[in-house]
Amino acid sequence: MIIVMQKGATPAQISAVVARVEGMGRQVHLSRGEERTIIGVVGDDRTFDRDQFERMDGVEHTVPILKPYKLASREFHPSDSVVDVGGVSIGGQAVVVMAGPCAVESREQLMETAWAAKEAGALILRGGAFKPRTSPYSFQGMGEQGLQLLAEARAETGLLVVTEVMSPSQVSLVATYADILQIGARNMQNYALLHAVGESHKPVLLKRGMMSTMEEWLMSAEYVLSHGNNRVMLCERGIRTFETYTRNTFDINAIAMLKQLTHLPVIADPSHGTGLWELVGPVARGAVAAGADGLILEIHPRPEEAVSDGRQSLKPKRFAELMSEVRLIAEAVGALPGDRRAA
Ligand code: PEP
Ligand code: MN
Repeated sequence: MIIVMQKGATPAQISAVVARVEGMGRQVHLSRGEERTIIGVVGDDRTFDRDQFERMDGVEHTVPILKPYKLASREFHPSDSVVDVGGVSIGGQAVVVMAGPCAVESREQLMETAWAAKEAGALILRGGAFKPRTSPYSFQGMGEQGLQLLAEARAETGLLVVTEVMSPSQVSLVATYADILQIGARNMQNYALLHAVGESHKPVLLKRGMMSTMEEWLMSAEYVLSHGNNRVMLCERGIRTFETYTRNTFDINAIAMLKQLTHLPVIADPSHGTGLWELVGPVARGAVAAGADGLILEIHPRPEEAVSDGRQSLKPKRFAELMSEVRLIAEAVGALPGDRRAA
C-alpha cells in the first residue's frame, strides 16, 4: 500500500504515520518528492486497514498496490530511480555505456579493451571472471585473478567495473573488487544468490532469465530490494524464442514496458540479445530510442581470438562509431515532447 501525504504535510504528521506503520510490524519506504511525501508500506495489502490511515492528519489518500512486486513497482516510487555507482548516475538523463570483453582473458587483452572502451566514452568496464558456461569443458573464467585484473584496469583507466557473481559464497569476494554485481541470465531465479546480493551494499545488474516473463524478472528484483539493497538495475539480454538465425530474441517491448511498470533503470544488452556483432549496432540504437537508460556491450580487440562470445563482440573501431550514433539517438529522444527525458 502507498500512503500519499498532503502537499503541506508536516514532519510530525509524516512521523506519526511512519510510527503507526512500524508499530504494526511493517517496513516503511519513504519517498520525498518536491511536492509531497509518499510512504510505501511493504507486505500483503489485504490485511491492511486503509481507512485507519486515511483518517490520520496530513494523509491525502491511500492506494493499494495490486501487483505482486511492490518495491519495484512504479506506483511505489513514481519517479525514475537514479542508481549512483561511484559518482556515475544510472537512470538519470544520460545513457550510460558499459563495455568490455565477455571474459577477462589476460592482462594485455583486458587493458587494451579497457582503454578502447574508455577512449570511446564508456564509463563502466564489463568482463567476466567467473563465467557460466553451457559446457563444463569450456573456459570457466580466470576467477580471482580475473577480478584482480579488473581492479587494475579500474585503477589505470578510472572506469568502474561490472562483473558476474554466480553463487552466494562468491558474493563477498566479488564485491571487494566490483562496483556492480552482475546476476547472469542463468541465475535470475537463484533466490539464495538474490538474497545474498540483496544484503550486500553493491549495486546489482539483474539480467533477464532467458525464459522469464517480465513479471518473474521484477519478482527477482523484488527479492534484492526486499533484502535492503535499493540499487538494482534490470538488463534485457534477449529471450529464447523459436527463431534460430539469432542467438536470442532481443525484446524491445520490455524496454518500453518496464519504463511503465518500474522505476528501476533499464539497461540493454544487444550483444547477448542478438549474438551477432552486425546486429549489435542497430539493436543498440533501437533500445536507446525505446528508452533504455544504458547499454552493456561486448567488445574485443581481436574477436576471432576471443575465448567466448567473439561472434557478438565489436572491434574497438566499430564500438567508437556506435558510441557516436548512440549519442545522436539519445539526444533526439531527449528532445521528443512527452518523453520522460524531456521532463
Ligand atoms: C555475459 O554477460 O557474458 C553473460 C554470460 O550474459 P547472460 O547471463 O546474459 O547470458
Ligand atoms: Mn558473453
